[in-house]
Amino acid sequence: MKAVYITEHGGTDKLVFGDRPEPEVAPGEVMLRVRASALNHLDLNLRAGTSYKGPLPRTLGCDIAGEITAISPQAHTSLKIGDRVILNNRLTCGVCDNCNLGLDNACSNGQRIGVDVDGGHAEYVTAPAANAHVIPDAMDFNEAATLPIAAHTVWHCLVTQAQIKPWDTVLVQAAGSGVGSMAIQIAKMMGARVITTAGSQWKLDKAKEWGADEVINYRETPNFSQRVKELTEGVGADLVFDCVGADIWNENLLSMAPRGRLVITGVTSGTQVNMNLSLLHNGPLQLMGSGGRSNRTFAEFMKVVHHGSLHGIIGGVYPLDDVAGAHQAMEDRNFYGKLVIES
Ligand SMILES: [Zn+2]
Repeated sequence: MKAVYITEHGGTDKLVFGDRPEPEVAPGEVMLRVRASALNHLDLNLRAGTSYKGPLPRTLGCDIAGEITAISPQAHTSLKIGDRVILNNRLTCGVCDNCNLGLDNACSNGQRIGVDVDGGHAEYVTAPAANAHVIPDAMDFNEAATLPIAAHTVWHCLVTQAQIKPWDTVLVQAAGSGVGSMAIQIAKMMGARVITTAGSQWKLDKAKEWGADEVINYRETPNFSQRVKELTEGVGADLVFDCVGADIWNENLLSMAPRGRLVITGVTSGTQVNMNLSLLHNGPLQLMGSGGRSNRTFAEFMKVVHHGSLHGIIGGVYPLDDVAGAHQAMEDRNFYGKLVIES
């Protein structure tokens, strides 16, 4: 089958479009004819070798939508051949202490499709039946492929971790990113007021279309905390959602209201910070990391998808033989939402 894989780490020239063996359905699994897969920063890190050093070759692609073409006889599932599904790419063992404690997001034997096992930039992929979730009839594969990691991550961060409330003012960083654009949508759905940042006016205009109440151009206003304070009558944001990291860390802290919460789920600008700890203890501030996402959280946001209130945001579509073009576009950051690969 056709697939996009790496045999060594490096630049976009290391992405190989070629033939790989069709996967076989193991007990408990389903097979998908992949129709679309979405790109994540994780894919860029994997390709470059900065976040993954496992055995190669590896087929990339963590966000996967397709139709079921085979079901293992041992699979306990109501899924049928032909069902249209997306995959939760987090594989859990179900038998470790954490899984038994209901903490499958911290499974001791956890793996990820597209990272530890072959992914969905391919014609076919297999997964445990429990990881396949049926999508609404009205939702096409391209939109569906944008949801698994972005919606799962944001729901986990805002709803589960930070306990977002309708009276919160939420500062969402990187409005145009996959998780940033999804965070605006989910924060508005939960009734919160949203302030968001981006580096270009067209992305801020898009953010407004998707519900943002206030926007800040961080290139024109690098000390954006002052603007956040102005917009909140000097109080600050109750909740900060960040996927940027080091470059804006101190401005994030200065933007926060007393007893504010911050949840970080990405460090695209770097990992090392010099931090004023008095801000933390005087706030007092609650600083949270994202970490693993649970099966329950996936089921929660999928309920909302079926209600028709949560949508994928497509920032560009590429054919399977141009994953390199999608990687370049993500590095150039000139898009809003998610980049999709059609298989
Ligand atoms: Zn486990």
